[in-house]
Amino acid sequence: MIRTQVGIVGAGPAGLLLSHLLSLEGIESVIVESQSRAHIEERVRAGVLEQGTVDLLNEAGVGDRMRRQGLVHHGIELRFGRRGHRIDFQELVGRAITVYAQHEVVKDLVHARFTAGGQIFFEADSVSIHGFDGDDPRIRFRHAGEQRELACHYIAGCDGFRGICRPSVPAGALRFYEKVYPFGWLGILAEAKPASDELIYANHECGFALMSMRTPGISRLYLQCRPDEDLAEWPDSRIWEELQRRFQTAEGFRLNEGPIFQKGVTAMRSFVTEPMQYGRLFLAGDAAHIVPPTGAKGLNLAAADVRILSRALAWRFCTGSDERLRRYSEICLRRVWRAQHFSWWMTSLMHRFNQDSGFDHRRQLAELDQVTSSRAAATVLAENYTGLPFQLPGEEL
Ligand SMILES: Cc1cc2nc3c(=O)[nH]c(=O)nc-3n(C[C@H](O)[C@H](O)[C@H](O)COP(=O)(O)OP(=O)(O)OC[C@H]3O[C@@H](n4cnc5c(N)ncnc54)[C@H](O)[C@@H]3O)c2cc1C
Repeated sequence: MIRTQVGIVGAGPAGLLLSHLLSLEGIESVIVESQSRAHIEERVRAGVLEQGTVDLLNEAGVGDRMRRQGLVHHGIELRFGRRGHRIDFQELVGRAITVYAQHEVVKDLVHARFTAGGQIFFEADSVSIHGFDGDDPRIRFRHAGEQRELACHYIAGCDGFRGICRPSVPAGALRFYEKVYPFGWLGILAEAKPASDELIYANHECGFALMSMRTPGISRLYLQCRPDEDLAEWPDSRIWEELQRRFQTAEGFRLNEGPIFQKGVTAMRSFVTEPMQYGRLFLAGDAAHIVPPTGAKGLNLAAADVRILSRALAWRFCTGSDERLRRYSEICLRRVWRAQHFSWWMTSLMHRFNQDSGFDHRRQLAELDQVTSSRAAATVLAENYTGLPFQLPGEEL
Protein backbone atom coordinates (compact mmCIF):
# COMPACT_ATOMS: atom_id res chain seq x y z
CA MET A 1 0.00 0.00 0.00
CA ILE A 2 1.32 3.44 -0.97
CA ARG A 3 0.07 6.57 0.81
CA THR A 4 0.09 10.10 -0.52
CA GLN A 5 -1.96 13.29 -0.26
CA VAL A 6 -3.16 13.51 -3.88
CA GLY A 7 -3.40 10.54 -6.25
CA ILE A 8 -3.25 11.62 -9.88
CA VAL A 9 -4.43 9.47 -12.79
CA GLY A 10 -2.66 10.43 -16.05
CA ALA A 11 0.74 11.95 -16.88
CA GLY A 12 -0.38 14.32 -19.62
CA PRO A 13 0.15 18.06 -19.23
CA ALA A 14 -2.67 18.31 -16.65
CA GLY A 15 -1.47 15.53 -14.34
CA LEU A 16 2.23 16.42 -14.55
CA LEU A 17 1.71 20.15 -14.05
CA LEU A 18 -0.67 19.53 -11.14
CA SER A 19 1.89 17.27 -9.46
CA HIS A 20 4.61 19.87 -9.98
CA LEU A 21 2.49 22.80 -8.69
CA LEU A 22 1.46 20.74 -5.64
CA SER A 23 5.08 19.94 -4.83
CA LEU A 24 5.88 23.67 -4.93
CA GLU A 25 3.16 24.05 -2.26
CA GLY A 26 4.72 21.25 -0.20
CA ILE A 27 1.97 18.74 -1.04
CA GLU A 28 2.83 15.14 -1.96
CA SER A 29 1.32 13.42 -4.96
CA VAL A 30 1.82 10.23 -6.96
CA ILE A 31 0.97 9.84 -10.67
CA VAL A 32 -0.33 6.61 -12.24
CA GLU A 33 0.03 6.56 -16.07
CA SER A 34 -0.95 3.79 -18.46
CA GLN A 35 1.65 4.58 -21.16
CA SER A 36 5.46 4.45 -21.10
CA ARG A 37 7.62 7.52 -20.47
CA ALA A 38 8.94 7.36 -24.05
CA HIS A 39 5.39 7.28 -25.43
CA ILE A 40 4.16 10.38 -23.59
CA GLU A 41 7.38 12.26 -24.35
CA GLU A 42 6.99 11.67 -28.09
CA ARG A 43 3.21 11.99 -28.53
CA VAL A 44 2.59 14.75 -31.09
CA ARG A 45 -0.28 17.04 -30.12
CA ALA A 46 -0.77 20.72 -29.31
CA GLY A 47 1.77 23.41 -29.95
CA VAL A 48 0.32 26.82 -29.12
CA LEU A 49 0.79 28.22 -25.61
CA GLU A 50 -1.15 31.24 -24.45
CA GLN A 51 0.65 34.02 -22.61
CA GLY A 52 -0.88 32.86 -19.29
CA THR A 53 0.35 29.29 -19.77
CA VAL A 54 3.84 30.55 -20.59
CA ASP A 55 3.80 32.75 -17.47
CA LEU A 56 2.62 29.84 -15.32
CA LEU A 57 5.37 27.50 -16.61
CA ASN A 58 7.98 30.21 -16.04
CA GLU A 59 6.75 30.98 -12.52
CA ALA A 60 6.77 27.25 -11.73
CA GLY A 61 10.45 27.05 -12.78
CA VAL A 62 9.91 24.76 -15.78
CA GLY A 63 10.25 27.35 -18.55
CA ASP A 64 14.00 27.30 -19.32
CA ARG A 65 13.88 25.25 -22.54
CA MET A 66 10.62 26.90 -23.59
CA ARG A 67 12.26 30.33 -23.31
CA ARG A 68 15.22 29.13 -25.38
CA GLN A 69 13.41 27.08 -28.03
CA GLY A 70 9.84 28.44 -28.11
CA LEU A 71 8.89 30.71 -31.00
CA VAL A 72 7.13 33.85 -29.82
CA HIS A 73 4.44 35.05 -32.26
CA HIS A 74 2.86 38.49 -32.11
CA GLY A 75 0.08 37.77 -34.59
CA ILE A 76 -1.57 35.32 -36.99
CA GLU A 77 -2.70 35.56 -40.59
CA LEU A 78 -6.26 34.92 -41.79
CA ARG A 79 -6.25 33.98 -45.47
CA PHE A 80 -9.37 34.04 -47.63
CA GLY A 81 -10.25 35.12 -51.15
CA ARG A 82 -6.56 34.35 -51.98
CA ARG A 83 -5.34 37.24 -49.81
CA GLY A 84 -3.65 37.33 -46.42
CA HIS A 85 -4.77 39.62 -43.56
CA ARG A 86 -2.64 39.91 -40.43
CA ILE A 87 -4.19 40.11 -36.95
CA ASP A 88 -1.59 41.94 -34.86
CA PHE A 89 -1.96 40.68 -31.28
CA GLN A 90 0.78 42.90 -29.93
CA GLU A 91 -0.81 46.04 -31.27
CA LEU A 92 -4.38 45.04 -30.39
CA VAL A 93 -3.98 43.56 -26.90
CA GLY A 94 -0.24 43.81 -26.07
CA ARG A 95 0.11 40.03 -25.79
CA ALA A 96 1.69 37.13 -27.71
CA ILE A 97 1.53 33.34 -28.02
CA THR A 98 4.44 30.89 -27.95
CA VAL A 99 4.80 27.94 -30.31
CA TYR A 100 6.38 25.12 -28.24
CA ALA A 101 5.27 21.52 -28.73
CA GLN A 102 3.17 19.84 -26.05
CA HIS A 103 5.53 16.85 -25.84
CA GLU A 104 8.37 19.25 -25.02
CA VAL A 105 6.27 20.67 -22.15
CA VAL A 106 5.67 17.07 -21.04
CA LYS A 107 9.44 16.30 -21.15
CA ASP A 108 10.20 19.40 -19.06
CA LEU A 109 7.58 18.44 -16.48
CA VAL A 110 8.65 14.77 -16.23
CA HIS A 111 12.24 15.93 -15.75
CA ALA A 112 11.14 18.39 -13.04
CA ARG A 113 9.12 15.71 -11.21
CA PHE A 114 11.99 13.22 -11.14
CA THR A 115 14.52 15.90 -10.17
CA ALA A 116 12.33 16.77 -7.18
CA GLY A 117 11.98 13.08 -6.20
CA GLY A 118 8.40 12.79 -7.53
CA GLN A 119 6.88 9.38 -8.15
CA ILE A 120 5.29 8.36 -11.47
CA PHE A 121 4.17 4.79 -12.18
CA PHE A 122 4.46 4.43 -15.96
CA GLU A 123 2.91 1.52 -17.86
CA ALA A 124 0.31 0.89 -15.16
CA ASP A 125 -2.59 -1.29 -16.28
CA SER A 126 -6.06 -2.16 -14.97
CA VAL A 127 -6.24 1.28 -13.31
CA SER A 128 -9.41 1.82 -11.26
CA ILE A 129 -10.55 4.36 -8.66
CA HIS A 130 -12.57 3.72 -5.48
CA GLY A 131 -13.89 5.37 -2.34
CA PHE A 132 -14.00 8.92 -3.70
CA ASP A 133 -17.65 9.33 -2.69
CA GLY A 134 -16.51 8.92 0.94
CA ASP A 135 -13.31 9.88 2.76
CA ASP A 136 -11.07 6.97 1.73
CA PRO A 137 -10.14 7.42 -1.95
CA ARG A 138 -7.94 4.75 -3.54
CA ILE A 139 -6.36 4.09 -6.91
CA ARG A 140 -5.76 0.43 -7.77
CA PHE A 141 -3.54 -0.69 -10.64
CA ARG A 142 -1.12 -3.35 -11.80
CA HIS A 143 2.50 -2.36 -12.23
CA ALA A 144 5.43 -4.57 -13.26
CA GLY A 145 3.26 -7.63 -12.69
CA GLU A 146 2.22 -6.62 -9.16
CA GLN A 147 -1.15 -5.42 -7.87
CA ARG A 148 -0.75 -1.97 -6.20
CA GLU A 149 -3.02 0.28 -4.17
CA LEU A 150 -2.57 4.00 -3.61
CA ALA A 151 -4.45 5.56 -0.66
CA CYS A 152 -4.89 9.33 -0.83
CA HIS A 153 -7.03 12.23 0.44
CA TYR A 154 -8.09 13.33 -3.05
CA ILE A 155 -7.99 11.90 -6.58
CA ALA A 156 -7.27 14.11 -9.59
CA GLY A 157 -8.70 12.60 -12.79
CA CYS A 158 -6.23 13.92 -15.39
CA ASP A 159 -6.56 10.91 -17.70
CA GLY A 160 -7.78 12.60 -20.87
CA PHE A 161 -11.00 12.20 -22.82
CA ARG A 162 -10.83 8.37 -22.97
CA GLY A 163 -9.66 7.80 -19.40
CA ILE A 164 -11.42 5.87 -16.61
CA CYS A 165 -12.06 8.60 -14.03
CA ARG A 166 -15.08 10.35 -15.59
CA PRO A 167 -16.86 7.04 -16.40
CA SER A 168 -16.27 5.88 -12.79
CA VAL A 169 -18.70 8.50 -11.45
CA PRO A 170 -22.18 7.01 -10.84
CA ALA A 171 -24.57 7.44 -13.76
CA GLY A 172 -26.68 10.57 -13.53
CA ALA A 173 -24.33 12.47 -11.17
CA LEU A 174 -22.67 14.43 -13.98
CA ARG A 175 -24.15 16.17 -16.96
CA PHE A 176 -22.45 16.12 -20.38
CA TYR A 177 -22.76 18.66 -23.19
CA GLU A 178 -21.45 17.56 -26.57
CA LYS A 179 -21.17 18.71 -30.16
CA VAL A 180 -19.57 16.55 -32.85
CA TYR A 181 -18.40 18.26 -36.05
CA PRO A 182 -18.87 16.63 -39.46
CA PHE A 183 -15.17 16.93 -40.32
CA GLY A 184 -11.67 16.24 -38.99
CA TRP A 185 -8.11 17.46 -39.52
CA LEU A 186 -5.46 15.57 -41.44
CA GLY A 187 -2.23 16.74 -39.78
CA ILE A 188 1.37 16.28 -40.92
CA LEU A 189 4.85 17.08 -39.68
CA ALA A 190 7.33 17.73 -42.49
CA GLU A 191 11.02 18.54 -42.74
CA ALA A 192 10.34 21.79 -44.50
CA LYS A 193 11.11 25.36 -43.48
CA PRO A 194 7.79 27.05 -42.58
CA ALA A 195 6.80 29.36 -45.42
CA SER A 196 5.73 32.07 -42.98
CA ASP A 197 6.98 33.18 -39.56
CA GLU A 198 3.44 33.15 -38.17
CA LEU A 199 0.48 30.74 -38.27
CA ILE A 200 -1.82 31.00 -41.31
CA TYR A 201 -5.52 30.05 -40.99
CA ALA A 202 -6.95 29.59 -44.50
CA ASN A 203 -10.61 29.52 -45.48
CA HIS A 204 -10.83 28.03 -48.98
CA GLU A 205 -13.74 26.69 -51.08
CA CYS A 206 -12.19 23.19 -50.76
CA GLY A 207 -12.01 23.44 -46.96
CA PHE A 208 -9.94 24.80 -44.09
CA ALA A 209 -6.14 24.55 -43.84
CA LEU A 210 -3.66 25.63 -41.16
CA MET A 211 0.03 26.31 -41.52
CA SER A 212 1.93 26.08 -38.26
CA MET A 213 5.43 25.06 -37.23
CA ARG A 214 7.32 23.09 -34.58
CA THR A 215 10.81 24.52 -35.09
CA PRO A 216 12.39 26.85 -37.67
CA GLY A 217 13.03 23.73 -39.83
CA ILE A 218 9.81 21.71 -39.24
CA SER A 219 6.36 22.60 -40.58
CA ARG A 220 3.14 21.44 -38.94
CA LEU A 221 0.29 21.54 -41.47
CA TYR A 222 -3.37 20.58 -41.32
CA LEU A 223 -6.14 20.03 -43.88
CA GLN A 224 -9.86 19.78 -43.21
CA CYS A 225 -10.94 16.23 -44.13
CA ARG A 226 -13.69 13.70 -43.35
CA PRO A 227 -13.69 12.57 -39.68
CA ASP A 228 -13.08 8.98 -40.85
CA GLU A 229 -10.63 9.90 -43.62
CA ASP A 230 -8.50 6.95 -44.78
CA LEU A 231 -4.84 7.97 -44.72
CA ALA A 232 -4.08 5.29 -47.34
CA GLU A 233 -5.87 7.55 -49.83
CA TRP A 234 -3.47 10.39 -49.05
CA PRO A 235 -0.02 9.78 -50.51
CA ASP A 236 2.38 12.63 -49.76
CA SER A 237 2.02 14.10 -53.26
CA ARG A 238 -1.76 14.45 -52.83
CA ILE A 239 -1.34 16.13 -49.41
CA TRP A 240 1.09 18.72 -50.80
CA GLU A 241 -1.10 19.37 -53.84
CA GLU A 242 -4.16 19.99 -51.65
CA LEU A 243 -2.23 22.15 -49.18
CA GLN A 244 -0.77 24.28 -51.99
CA ARG A 245 -4.29 24.75 -53.41
CA ARG A 246 -5.78 25.90 -50.11
CA PHE A 247 -2.96 28.34 -49.29
CA GLN A 248 -2.58 29.87 -52.76
CA THR A 249 -2.70 33.66 -53.06
CA ALA A 250 -3.01 36.11 -55.93
CA GLU A 251 0.74 36.82 -55.41
CA GLY A 252 1.73 33.15 -55.99
CA PHE A 253 2.45 32.01 -52.40
CA ARG A 254 4.03 28.50 -52.20
CA LEU A 255 4.57 26.30 -49.14
CA ASN A 256 8.04 24.79 -48.81
CA GLU A 257 7.74 21.03 -49.31
CA GLY A 258 9.86 18.32 -47.69
CA PRO A 259 9.73 14.72 -46.38
CA ILE A 260 6.60 14.03 -44.30
CA PHE A 261 7.55 12.07 -41.16
CA GLN A 262 4.24 12.02 -39.26
CA LYS A 263 0.60 11.86 -40.44
CA GLY A 264 -2.67 11.52 -38.52
CA VAL A 265 -6.39 12.28 -38.58
CA THR A 266 -8.10 13.98 -35.62
CA ALA A 267 -11.89 14.06 -35.29
CA MET A 268 -13.36 17.29 -33.94
CA ARG A 269 -15.66 17.58 -30.98
CA SER A 270 -16.74 19.98 -28.23
CA PHE A 271 -17.48 18.35 -24.88
CA VAL A 272 -18.07 19.64 -21.34
CA THR A 273 -18.71 17.77 -18.07
CA GLU A 274 -20.64 19.56 -15.33
CA PRO A 275 -19.68 19.69 -12.56
CA MET A 276 -15.98 18.82 -12.81
CA GLN A 277 -16.08 17.21 -9.38
CA TYR A 278 -17.75 14.30 -7.63
CA GLY A 279 -16.98 13.78 -3.94
CA ARG A 280 -13.19 13.66 -3.59
CA LEU A 281 -12.61 13.18 -7.32
CA PHE A 282 -11.66 16.29 -9.32
CA LEU A 283 -11.55 16.15 -13.12
CA ALA A 284 -9.07 18.37 -14.99
CA GLY A 285 -8.06 18.94 -18.61
CA ASP A 286 -9.39 16.69 -21.38
CA ALA A 287 -10.93 14.34 -18.80
CA ALA A 288 -13.48 17.11 -18.15
CA HIS A 289 -13.74 18.93 -21.48
CA ILE A 290 -12.44 18.99 -25.02
CA VAL A 291 -12.50 21.65 -27.71
CA PRO A 292 -11.95 21.48 -31.46
CA PRO A 293 -8.29 22.44 -32.02
CA THR A 294 -9.08 25.51 -34.19
CA GLY A 295 -8.81 27.87 -31.20
CA ALA A 296 -5.66 26.14 -29.79
CA LYS A 297 -7.23 26.00 -26.33
CA GLY A 298 -7.05 22.34 -25.11
CA LEU A 299 -3.62 22.37 -23.50
CA ASN A 300 -4.15 25.88 -22.18
CA LEU A 301 -7.43 24.94 -20.48
CA ALA A 302 -5.71 21.95 -18.86
CA ALA A 303 -3.06 24.30 -17.43
CA ALA A 304 -5.71 26.74 -16.18
CA ASP A 305 -7.69 23.94 -14.45
CA VAL A 306 -4.73 22.57 -12.53
CA ARG A 307 -3.58 26.01 -11.50
CA ILE A 308 -6.96 26.50 -9.77
CA LEU A 309 -6.99 22.94 -8.39
CA SER A 310 -3.46 23.15 -6.94
CA ARG A 311 -4.35 26.38 -5.13
CA ALA A 312 -7.62 25.00 -3.78
CA LEU A 313 -5.87 21.83 -2.55
CA ALA A 314 -3.10 23.92 -0.96
CA TRP A 315 -5.76 25.96 0.87
CA ARG A 316 -7.42 22.73 2.06
CA PHE A 317 -4.21 21.16 3.37
CA CYS A 318 -3.03 24.43 4.91
CA THR A 319 -6.27 25.56 6.62
CA GLY A 320 -8.46 22.46 6.73
CA SER A 321 -11.18 24.36 4.80
CA ASP A 322 -12.59 22.84 1.61
CA GLU A 323 -14.40 26.07 0.68
CA ARG A 324 -12.08 26.67 -2.31
CA LEU A 325 -12.31 23.09 -3.51
CA ARG A 326 -16.08 23.48 -3.58
CA ARG A 327 -15.66 26.44 -5.96
CA TYR A 328 -13.22 24.60 -8.26
CA SER A 329 -15.76 23.45 -10.80
CA GLU A 330 -17.67 26.72 -11.00
CA ILE A 331 -14.47 28.74 -11.50
CA CYS A 332 -13.05 26.42 -14.17
CA LEU A 333 -16.32 26.08 -16.07
CA ARG A 334 -16.61 29.81 -16.63
CA ARG A 335 -13.30 29.79 -18.56
CA VAL A 336 -14.13 26.45 -20.21
CA TRP A 337 -17.38 27.80 -21.69
CA ARG A 338 -15.64 30.98 -22.89
CA ALA A 339 -13.05 28.77 -24.62
CA GLN A 340 -15.80 26.53 -26.00
CA HIS A 341 -17.51 29.52 -27.52
CA PHE A 342 -14.29 30.85 -29.08
CA SER A 343 -13.26 27.42 -30.43
CA TRP A 344 -16.72 26.83 -31.91
CA TRP A 345 -16.69 30.33 -33.44
CA MET A 346 -13.25 29.89 -35.05
CA THR A 347 -14.31 26.45 -36.31
CA SER A 348 -17.58 27.75 -37.78
CA LEU A 349 -15.80 30.69 -39.37
CA MET A 350 -13.07 28.71 -41.10
CA HIS A 351 -14.45 25.29 -42.16
CA ARG A 352 -16.47 24.18 -45.14
CA PHE A 353 -19.78 22.61 -44.04
CA ASN A 354 -21.54 19.71 -45.82
CA GLN A 355 -24.49 20.57 -48.01
CA ASP A 356 -23.53 24.23 -48.16
CA SER A 357 -25.36 25.74 -51.11
CA GLY A 358 -22.74 28.48 -51.07
CA PHE A 359 -24.63 30.59 -48.55
CA ASP A 360 -22.46 29.58 -45.57
CA HIS A 361 -19.25 30.24 -47.44
CA ARG A 362 -20.39 33.73 -48.45
CA ARG A 363 -21.50 34.43 -44.87
CA GLN A 364 -18.05 33.34 -43.62
CA LEU A 365 -16.34 35.67 -46.10
CA ALA A 366 -18.49 38.58 -44.87
CA GLU A 367 -17.54 37.82 -41.27
CA LEU A 368 -13.85 37.47 -42.15
CA ASP A 369 -14.11 40.82 -43.91
CA GLN A 370 -15.42 42.32 -40.68
CA VAL A 371 -12.78 40.64 -38.47
CA THR A 372 -9.97 41.92 -40.69
CA SER A 373 -11.30 45.46 -41.18
CA SER A 374 -12.90 46.36 -37.83
CA ARG A 375 -10.52 47.00 -34.92
CA ALA A 376 -13.26 46.02 -32.46
CA ALA A 377 -13.84 42.64 -34.15
CA ALA A 378 -10.09 41.95 -34.50
CA THR A 379 -9.58 42.80 -30.81
CA VAL A 380 -12.15 40.18 -29.75
CA LEU A 381 -10.24 37.56 -31.74
CA ALA A 382 -6.85 38.68 -30.36
CA GLU A 383 -8.09 38.77 -26.76
CA ASN A 384 -9.47 35.24 -26.97
CA TYR A 385 -6.67 33.71 -29.03
CA THR A 386 -3.87 34.96 -26.75
CA GLY A 387 -5.94 33.78 -23.77
CA LEU A 388 -8.13 35.22 -21.07
CA PRO A 389 -6.33 36.43 -17.93
CA PHE A 390 -5.70 33.50 -15.57
CA GLN A 391 -7.76 35.23 -12.93
CA LEU A 392 -11.13 36.36 -14.21
CA PRO A 393 -13.00 38.96 -12.11
CA GLY A 394 -14.48 37.42 -8.97
CA GLU A 395 -12.07 34.46 -8.92
CA GLU A 396 -9.69 35.41 -6.17
CA LEU A 397 -8.14 32.06 -5.27
C1 LIG B 1 -3.91 15.69 -32.61
C2 LIG B 1 -4.19 16.71 -31.56
C3 LIG B 1 -3.82 18.04 -31.78
C4 LIG B 1 -4.07 19.00 -30.80
N1 LIG B 1 -3.70 20.30 -31.03
C5 LIG B 1 -3.88 21.23 -30.06
C6 LIG B 1 -3.42 22.58 -30.22
O1 LIG B 1 -2.88 22.97 -31.26
N2 LIG B 1 -3.56 23.44 -29.18
C7 LIG B 1 -4.14 23.04 -27.99
O2 LIG B 1 -4.23 23.85 -27.06
N3 LIG B 1 -4.58 21.78 -27.82
C8 LIG B 1 -4.47 20.86 -28.83
N4 LIG B 1 -4.88 19.58 -28.62
C9 LIG B 1 -5.48 19.25 -27.36
C10 LIG B 1 -4.42 19.00 -26.29
O3 LIG B 1 -3.42 18.16 -26.80
C11 LIG B 1 -5.12 18.39 -25.08
O4 LIG B 1 -6.10 19.32 -24.65
C12 LIG B 1 -4.14 18.10 -23.94
O5 LIG B 1 -3.37 16.97 -24.25
C13 LIG B 1 -4.89 17.89 -22.63
O6 LIG B 1 -4.00 17.45 -21.64
P1 LIG B 1 -4.50 16.42 -20.54
O7 LIG B 1 -3.32 16.22 -19.64
O8 LIG B 1 -5.77 16.88 -19.96
O9 LIG B 1 -4.85 15.09 -21.33
P2 LIG B 1 -3.91 14.09 -22.12
O10 LIG B 1 -2.79 14.83 -22.77
O11 LIG B 1 -4.81 13.27 -22.98
O12 LIG B 1 -3.27 13.19 -20.99
C14 LIG B 1 -4.00 12.16 -20.35
C15 LIG B 1 -3.02 11.10 -19.86
O13 LIG B 1 -3.74 10.09 -19.17
C16 LIG B 1 -3.27 8.84 -19.58
N5 LIG B 1 -4.33 7.86 -19.35
C17 LIG B 1 -5.44 7.63 -20.09
N6 LIG B 1 -6.17 6.65 -19.55
C18 LIG B 1 -5.51 6.24 -18.45
C19 LIG B 1 -5.76 5.25 -17.47
N7 LIG B 1 -6.86 4.47 -17.54
N8 LIG B 1 -4.89 5.09 -16.47
C20 LIG B 1 -3.77 5.86 -16.38
N9 LIG B 1 -3.48 6.82 -17.29
C21 LIG B 1 -4.35 7.01 -18.31
C22 LIG B 1 -2.91 9.03 -21.05
O14 LIG B 1 -1.99 8.06 -21.51
C23 LIG B 1 -2.30 10.42 -21.03
O15 LIG B 1 -0.92 10.39 -20.79
C24 LIG B 1 -4.67 18.61 -29.58
C25 LIG B 1 -5.03 17.27 -29.35
C26 LIG B 1 -4.81 16.32 -30.32
C27 LIG B 1 -5.20 14.88 -30.05
